[in-house]
Amino acid sequence: MKIGTPKEIYEGEARVAMTPDSARQLQKLGYECAIESGAGVAAGFSDAAYEQAGVEIVKTAAALWKTADIIAKVRQPVETELKRLTKDKTLISFFNPGGNEEGLELAKSKGANVIAMEMVPRISRAQKMDALSSMANIAGYRAVIEAGNNFGRFFTGQVTAAGKVPPAKVLVVGAGVAGLAAIGTSTSLGAITYAFDVRPEVAEQVESMGAQFVYLDFEEEQQDGSATGGYASVSSPEFREAQLAKFRELAPEVDIVITTALIPNREAPELWTEDMVAAMKPGSVIVDLAAEKGGNCKLTVPDEKIVTDNGVTIVGYTDFPSRMAAQASTLYATNIRHMMTDLTPEKDGQINHNMDDDVIRGATVAFEGAITFPPPPPKVA
Ligand code: NAD
Repeated sequence: MKIGTPKEIYEGEARVAMTPDSARQLQKLGYECAIESGAGVAAGFSDAAYEQAGVEIVKTAAALWKTADIIAKVRQPVETELKRLTKDKTLISFFNPGGNEEGLELAKSKGANVIAMEMVPRISRAQKMDALSSMANIAGYRAVIEAGNNFGRFFTGQVTAAGKVPPAKVLVVGAGVAGLAAIGTSTSLGAITYAFDVRPEVAEQVESMGAQFVYLDFEEEQQDGSATGGYASVSSPEFREAQLAKFRELAPEVDIVITTALIPNREAPELWTEDMVAAMKPGSVIVDLAAEKGGNCKLTVPDEKIVTDNGVTIVGYTDFPSRMAAQASTLYATNIRHMMTDLTPEKDGQINHNMDDDVIRGATVAFEGAITFPPPPPKVA
């Protein structure tokens, strides 16, 4: 069978789902590989590099979708792409199945099989295919770099002949995968780093990375925010008030705020209010990684960078992984390659789409003419 990767058509998307290295690994599983000409250029992979790795270069997207049995891509496919599916094809991509009924219906009507990368169950065995985590890790790192780029001062404190420089103070809100990556980057750059999460169990992780966990003046402490599966639930009004009161106290002190707080299947909670922005020092920076889900900061404009009247920069970009396209493509292509390894137990270049496998079942959102989303809960933890 042949695995093909088209050029991403989402405006500004620089990532690619196959790299020369991942193609070499896919060939070891018995597959032929093909790529649309120029698909890797924005991520730093030339057609020549793919050719050297034994990948067929296909001139157009239409020809690529026609020749490939398995199509691997990054962004949720658009209608013109989905219309190119047929019943003998498998698509592996981010798909946003919860908000993409039309896409699911189209895949169903074509009889194609679709694996949605965001649906890979978050269990230990599937970590190597967990593209949400590999991309969140990059976003967290890049958020700090972006903050530094917009912050006119050092992160680390210095004593120099020309004067004493205080260390920057960074607050990270939400300590999931992206938040922890941001905390690690911030502490390694030497900033005094604070972090908050509604899940009390992350306090130890935060502290082990050299940051200070922010505790609330709240009777039940942080015992409020954990739902099942390690995700957060909506906070009670009392808890939320205690959280906002603590943030109001911190706002005039911190130089950089990185917000990453999300609750599954909901708009992002609004945690950094207008009065908090107004209380921040001029030159401070907010990077809102929740911008795509509405933002944690009231004033965030998705996909834009704004500067408020009091001189606070608010970055609402939603394409952080694409801003590190070479690294993001390498990790994403590796996630896909691991998915293909599980789909090819015989290493014979043939997909064995085993719907009895929890991971494959969990990620499959359309199969043989039926919509298979949402999946049943996984049997193993
Ligand atoms: P996420 O992107 O859904 O949310 C980011 C963080 O925001 C979470 O830590 C959440 O608790 C926090 N949050 C929500 N509301 C908040 C509020 N009001 N204030 C402050 N913080 C708030 O999270 P994620 O990065 O996808 O991780 C979710 C869970 O999944 C974590 O427990 C993580 O350890 C776990 N996980 C497991 C695996 C695995 O086992 N394979 C892989 C990745 C993540």
